[in-house]
Amino acid sequence: MKPRHQYDIAFVGLKQGVHHFGYDIDNRFFEARETKPDFGVCQLQVNLTLDKQPGFFLLKFEVTGAVEVICDRCGDPFMLDIWDEFPMVVKLVDDPDALPQDEDPDVAYIARTDSHLHVEDWLYEFILLSVPMQRIHPDGPDGQSGCNPQVLARLDAMRQQQEKTGNPIWKDLDQFKNI
Ligand SMILES: [Zn+2]
Repeated sequence: MKPRHQYDIAFVGLKQGVHHFGYDIDNRFFEARETKPDFGVCQLQVNLTLDKQPGFFLLKFEVTGAVEVICDRCGDPFMLDIWDEFPMVVKLVDDPDALPQDEDPDVAYIARTDSHLHVEDWLYEFILLSVPMQRIHPDGPDGQSGCNPQVLARLDAMRQQQEKTGNPIWKDLDQFKNI
């Protein structure tokens, strides 16, 4: 994939010390990616802090905002608040290809002769990591579940029904007992 220039940081001209970069990420960010994320509407900001030191950079990606996901419990879509941060070290070396890039995921290597940091792949990776595997409506301020109350009532009725009749899976197996 062709790297997009708005996600490149020309670090040669940067002074030593801390610099801040901000990225507004919506669904267009993912259009060019081969693997699409499993969330819908995406309204995220990534604040990148870059501390330029002699021979290396300390990076911190802070992901905030919300993405639309499907609730694991009630099946309704909702906007899930996201907050996460990912530190990273980028080392300037003579020959980055000679170094194992995957050994430590928090460390990346680039050539001393490089002039730009390409942060697009890191943005993509950290955004995906910031969305939790488990997605459930948060409780409301009154402590009540934020889930669809009709679905919850139906689930509850099904559970009660199951308790009364026993687990239907085992019930089906019972019929083989007498064969
Ligand atoms: Zn729910």
